Amino acid sequence: MDNCLFCKIAGGEIDAEMIYSDEQLMAIKDINPQAPTHLLIIPKKHISTLMNIEVSDKELMGSVFTLAKSLAQENDLEVSGFRLVLNCGSGAGQSVFHIHFHLLGGRPMKWPPG
Ligand code: AMP
Ligand code: ZN
Repeated sequence: MDNCLFCKIAGGEIDAEMIYSDEQLMAIKDINPQAPTHLLIIPKKHISTLMNIEVSDKELMGSVFTLAKSLAQENDLEVSGFRLVLNCGSGAGQSVFHIHFHLLGGRPMKWPPG
């Protein structure tokens, strides 16, 4: 989609610190990290928000979780724990309207989140 930051990163038009990439998914380092590990897991298909997923996206969305598991292992977060966060809508803090999950770890986490 034109004018979408994460589509542009997926298409190589804008640089990012790419941690993982396959046909369907990419993982990049967040430019403004909120924890020692702060990665973004991003389906390459343009889907604006969680409210725009379809039944046909089931496998794609499922693969986010297996990638999150591998990245958590690679970053030694299995024992300390980590968060996988999806902000849906501006009221929840979503600022980039291309679906993505934040993988956050490496520091203690509080609940409830802010
Ligand atoms: P959200 O607020 O949930 O939509 O998350 C968007 C995230 O994208 C924020 O944590 C930003 O710091 C991050 N971000 C914005 N621009 C870039 C970029 N060019 N490269 C990597 N991360 C970015
Ligand atoms: Zn997009």
